[in-house]
Amino acid sequence: MYDYLIVGSGLTGAVFSHEAKKRGKSVLVIDKRSHAGGNIYTENIINIQVHMYGAHIFHTNSKRVWDYMNDFAVFNRYTNSPIANYKGEIYSLPFSMYTFNKMWGVKTPEEAKAKIDEQRRMAGIKEPKNLEEQAISLVGIDIYERLIKEYTEKQWGRPCNELPAFIIKRLPVRFKYDNNYFDALYQGIPVDGFTKIIEKMLEGCEVRLNCDFCKNRNELQGIAENIIYTGQIDEYFDYSLGHLEYRTLRFEHEIMTDTDNFQGNAVVNWTDKSVPYMRSVEHKHFYLNLETKGTVISREFPSEWKRGDEPYYPVNNEKNNAIYESYRELARGKCPDIIFAGRLGEYKYYDMDTAALKALELSDKIFNQR
Ligand code: FAD
Ligand code: UDP
Repeated sequence: MYDYLIVGSGLTGAVFSHEAKKRGKSVLVIDKRSHAGGNIYTENIINIQVHMYGAHIFHTNSKRVWDYMNDFAVFNRYTNSPIANYKGEIYSLPFSMYTFNKMWGVKTPEEAKAKIDEQRRMAGIKEPKNLEEQAISLVGIDIYERLIKEYTEKQWGRPCNELPAFIIKRLPVRFKYDNNYFDALYQGIPVDGFTKIIEKMLEGCEVRLNCDFCKNRNELQGIAENIIYTGQIDEYFDYSLGHLEYRTLRFEHEIMTDTDNFQGNAVVNWTDKSVPYMRSVEHKHFYLNLETKGTVISREFPSEWKRGDEPYYPVNNEKNNAIYESYRELARGKCPDIIFAGRLGEYKYYDMDTAALKALELSDKIFNQR
């Protein structure tokens, strides 16, 4: 018997496991993948730490989380500033004076605001009710059409007027010449990759890989006093109340030996729909002046999730949120002792810092530290 069975070795599971171990608890961590780390897993390929499941830039406003993560790694001062490629034209992201200048030739914040006001009035939007209306009222029609509409529909596989407004509010809109993608006090990339962080967090815990809870339920259900479950809540209940929707990604990783610098930036967003991938990532640029031979490029192809795929993005619209609530209700009745946590267990679009903070707060609550 273990004190804790942690299903899933992503950041949520790893932080909680570390906290439990620190308090003298015995911990078994299982993961159905062949490696630990969940979606933040990185792998060394030609001396570059490659983000195997998409670009992961750590950013947070929480000093607690930043200090905590820095106990496990050295972070560099990488600042994310992706560029958008729309039919061969390059625009700066997020939406800032650089973007407005390129789009309209405006040079001052006042001119940019006037242009956006004019386009907002033309669209006649008062109270934005969905992503399309929210985007137009934030940045106007031109930016919506070239940098948002097709990219978003590619990413989510749904029309922008059927998507929730909050998704686009993740991006800052700045009337400054500042192309830092995140409004965060702290930001960086761990110089030795994210996998090292997870390994350190899991030191002293027993880890079983290639072990799917749902396929080994009988053995695992009674193996520990407590279960923290960071997999899909709908899968846990065998989809008995219906499927939650997710978006999945297919990653194509390409090693290039004939160039040391392919795209000149870590992240390029391909915002027109004729390009089938969303982002291309050149990993070496995360590591500031990394002098290595060759380079690795990863491209992200989005599609609708089906059983057997990795569920990368929850689709948090009203319908799915309601299904999720009914699963929570079911969990409260059927298995009140299991704690569903993390991006899949809570079906929420958490960034890494929120995932880490939630896991810390959960351990505070359980171990009565604060
Ligand atoms: P996960 O990493 O999904 O871990 C869940 C784990 O549970 C997985 O390892 C899975 O294999 C395992 N599992 C599931 N079901 C079972 C089962 N039945 N049995 C055993 N194991 C199971 N955040 C940022 O802050 N910055 C970024 O730049 C950023 N970029 C992102 C880019 C992409 C493409 C994606 C998809 C996410 C990005 N994120 C980013 C979010 C970040 O990945 C998450 O916040 C974080 O990984 C959440 O960790 P988690 O442990 O909750 O979930
Ligand atoms: N987005 C966009 N164009 C871009 C980048 C983002 O329209 O070039 C939209 C898209 O709808 C996306 C949302 O902004 O879902 C939030 O972007 P973010 O980079 O936070 O998405 P992530 O991939 O990290 O979830």
